[in-house]
Amino acid sequence: MADAVPRLTLGRLRLAVQLVMLFVTVYGGSLVGYYTAEKITGSLPALSCAYDKLNGAHCQLITTQHQLHHRVGEQIAQLGHFALNMVLPLAFSFLAFYLFFVVLNKAFCGWICPLGTVQELIYRLGRRLKRPFRNLSETAARRLRPVKWALLLGLVFALPVTAGLGVTPASTGDVFCQICPSRLATTLLTGDTEQIMVRSSDALVFVFGALANTLFGFVVVAALAARQPFCRICPLMALNAAFQRLSPMRLVKTESDKCEKCGICRQACPMDIPEIHHEHGRQAFAEDCTLCGRCAEYCPQDGVIQLKFGPLALFKSSRAYYKARFKGETPAGEAKPLRRMERPAAGTADA
Ligand code: SF4
Ligand code: SF4
Ligand code: SF4
Repeated sequence: MADAVPRLTLGRLRLAVQLVMLFVTVYGGSLVGYYTAEKITGSLPALSCAYDKLNGAHCQLITTQHQLHHRVGEQIAQLGHFALNMVLPLAFSFLAFYLFFVVLNKAFCGWICPLGTVQELIYRLGRRLKRPFRNLSETAARRLRPVKWALLLGLVFALPVTAGLGVTPASTGDVFCQICPSRLATTLLTGDTEQIMVRSSDALVFVFGALANTLFGFVVVAALAARQPFCRICPLMALNAAFQRLSPMRLVKTESDKCEKCGICRQACPMDIPEIHHEHGRQAFAEDCTLCGRCAEYCPQDGVIQLKFGPLALFKSSRAYYKARFKGETPAGEAKPLRRMERPAAGTADA
């Protein structure tokens, strides 16, 4: 049967990987011991939140802020000059981060990030609860893009350095972590409510705490109706997007007469990326892409969209797969009533 629903869709595989990685990134320390978890996350500084007591201690954003605050800003303020050894630790942590990302590229976002998974699970809950949902317009999706770069440059790079130099208060030394919704999401998942307490040790700390809770509440409520609300402005996305062309892992949309500009790929895209509909080649792999693969799953044309690692096609769009996938879930993520899956005919899907 040409359009039978495959048992193992790319979407199901991704959900399984996301759930396993959510468990590992939030509770990993209780499995392998804190010492081992700390060593792993020290080598791959992108895997867990430093405030999660059950896990290791590194996310690239906190590492960057601390090094810019204490190694660079404070050292320059004390010595009055800039030296290479001030930036070497920062250079090595970036190297470890990008080695990890050279392999995975932004599949970290689409397949591993705990906050990405939490937002997606909330969105699925919203669909189950029949909440109305909204796609971002093309204009809004494009207009939001500079925000993540502004947060990266301002909160992750500039303020920690100025805090080290003594120009801004010490509490601005890790300002992004103080407002990060992932810190609240991952610690709450471990049952730790300490991080949602708003401290009043000084006015700025109080403001940051209030802002963090407001942002977290907004992300949770917004995720019921819109896909990946925080990802649109996440500075870790910007940090990774700066180097996304270096990885052999990528999204490829070929220029083809077969593309009917139907726009289903964009409807399926959790980041509402307009380029996947209108462009091809390098332009189609936009800075906000999380390599989730949903556009390839829902493109009805054979081979037009592919997930590739170097020359190897990991997944290709196909009409048979599209028809089968559509039976289980709409491009917007609304599940269709469950039914017995039929075994696909040989060669109908690559997942
Ligand atoms: S954009 Fe940020 S929050 Fe979203 S999945 Fe990527 S790292 Fe996680
Ligand atoms: S879903 Fe496929 S055919 Fe339709 S616009 Fe996107 S790439 Fe083109
Ligand atoms: S363009 Fe495709 S792979 Fe990238 S985020 Fe959108 S649906 Fe996922």
